[in-house]
Amino acid sequence: MSWTVDAARELYSIRQWGEEYFDINEEGEVVVNLTDESGKATAVSLSKIVRDQDERGRPVPLLLRFRNLLNRRIEALNQAFITAMKGSGYRGVYRGVYPIKVNQQQQVIEEISDFGRKYHYGLECGSKPELLIALAHLNDPEALLICNGYKDIEFIDLALKASQTGMQIVLVVEMPSEVDAILDRAEALGIAPTLGIRFRLSAKSEGHWADSGGDRSTFGLNTAQLIDAIDRLKERDSLKYLKLFHYHQGSQLPNIRAIREACTEAVRVYVNLVNEGAPMGILDLGGGLAIDYDGTHTNYISSCNYGLKEYAADLVEIVQNACDGAGITHPTIVTESGRAVVAHYSVLTFNVLDVTDFRETEAPPAPSPDSHEMLKNLWEIQNRVQTQEPNRLQECFNDALFYRDQIRSLFNNGVVTLRTRAHGEKMYWFTITQIAEQLGELDEIPEDLASLEANLISYYYANFSVFQSLPDHWAIDQLFPIMPLQRLTEEPTNQAILADITCDCDGKVDRFIDVKGAKRHLPIHAQKPGENYLIGAFLVGAYQETLGDLHNLLGDPHVVSVAVEDGEVVYTNEVEGDSVSDVLSYVEYDPKTIERQFRAIAERAVQKEQITAKQRRDLMDSFRATLNGYTYYEND
Ligand SMILES: *Cc1c(COP(=O)(O)O)cnc(C)c1O
Repeated sequence: MSWTVDAARELYSIRQWGEEYFDINEEGEVVVNLTDESGKATAVSLSKIVRDQDERGRPVPLLLRFRNLLNRRIEALNQAFITAMKGSGYRGVYRGVYPIKVNQQQQVIEEISDFGRKYHYGLECGSKPELLIALAHLNDPEALLICNGYKDIEFIDLALKASQTGMQIVLVVEMPSEVDAILDRAEALGIAPTLGIRFRLSAKSEGHWADSGGDRSTFGLNTAQLIDAIDRLKERDSLKYLKLFHYHQGSQLPNIRAIREACTEAVRVYVNLVNEGAPMGILDLGGGLAIDYDGTHTNYISSCNYGLKEYAADLVEIVQNACDGAGITHPTIVTESGRAVVAHYSVLTFNVLDVTDFRETEAPPAPSPDSHEMLKNLWEIQNRVQTQEPNRLQECFNDALFYRDQIRSLFNNGVVTLRTRAHGEKMYWFTITQIAEQLGELDEIPEDLASLEANLISYYYANFSVFQSLPDHWAIDQLFPIMPLQRLTEEPTNQAILADITCDCDGKVDRFIDVKGAKRHLPIHAQKPGENYLIGAFLVGAYQETLGDLHNLLGDPHVVSVAVEDGEVVYTNEVEGDSVSDVLSYVEYDPKTIERQFRAIAERAVQKEQITAKQRRDLMDSFRATLNGYTYYEND
């Protein structure tokens, strides 16, 4: 069967996880569909972006950001709720808030507050730095600024004082002690607070964060604490400040059923709070809206069995029914969707530096008459595989393995030379490769032979750091769609694990998306000599950028924002990645001191006439060039 671009689309599920944003063009390159101001769509090749940037001195690894996709996600989320509410006659509004922690980059927050204004899209903060970010960007009296997290007096005071500027700032009580803490400060400052309460649902969620919901979740009040808080608010004549009810089930909730259950429980509590006499008016359903990273549309951990529209429609329906049943006003519905808003925004691109291919496709030479018996035995197996009936492959495999091991122990005992051992290994791998190629002809693959294919998976050494750029892959087994950016008109004939350049044995990607959930290897092309083979890791806009760390002192990659204006690709907002000198200062070295120390060593070498003064100058030039260079592998 001949290979087509459609076959590539299917192999990498790009139409599933990429939605309408990513695709493959007829030239076999991955494209991003960007719309301009007028709404006209242009497909831009990612490998072209990388080439353009390389010419400008911004080599890979390069993080691409697409403002347009961020805007379209904000729009899609808001429109989903607007449509659902209109459709069912909901008499309240949707006011989304973006949780800053999901991607705190200045560009993201600026874009969200600018573009989000037409939807009165707000911000959620969970710490003092995030509060400052929110205060400085949210210039919209109709948008909400929701304060979650631990709050000290400084935090509370600032939020209260800032609310006098007309901003809608809600202080959410996360711990029982915060009721008095906030009321005390409000009294002292003479400012009426707007209060929310975070509740610990008993409904269990699924997915990686199953424990962040439920009875034992870390944050929020349980039922008894909630009642105590209500009583305390009443005692202090402060129930009138309680406007918002909130819960957060955890992130990346794969199953709509669990989401519905949580919402059902929450709205019941909400109704009770109204009946207790609190003014209420806002129901904040938290985050958790998932991304279909693997494109399977299932309740697998890296997927979700629902879409945006279904999510919005289900939540609106549940809230509406419960409120109608209880005869209370439809509240403003808030969600704190982070991942679903920013995941599409960034793509990490990197190149392949080297390949270790375990497959031996060239037949090794025949042993000479005076070669060791074991080599001759291996040679015989090697020839037998090529002429053998497929049903005896298992036997050939066992024999090849046996003779290979014999040669190894002969080597260890000093009987055969390193050359003989190398010759034997080559014959072994050639035989294994031959067997693997014939496996396709078998009706049923014996268990031993199935694992043989796994032994032949190549290592592709990739110019990036998993710890810096895909921390969730390393920490929580999160799958990201990863695929080559070019040559997709050709069938990928290799299977690979991606090893990064951190020299850490955990520094690799060996789980990839698959229609059946996950697979251990990535289908990939054989790299051509001299080719700059590019790979993209997609949907990395949520959580990956600031969770990343400086393992092996590999720093932030270069970043470029890409947009389309009047049908032309424009590069805006380039951010230079960390230099070697930058990362050294992060761990408290002073680059100047380091240089001075090394200069003294070089000077001593001049004194001892080991190098000339001119060589010293040359050496120091190299030292400084490295100091100012990129932390990743550079091609020049
Ligand atoms: C992290 C977090 C969110 C964001 O969750 P997503 O799954 O990314 O939408 C929302 N609310 C709170 C309280 C959070 O801690």
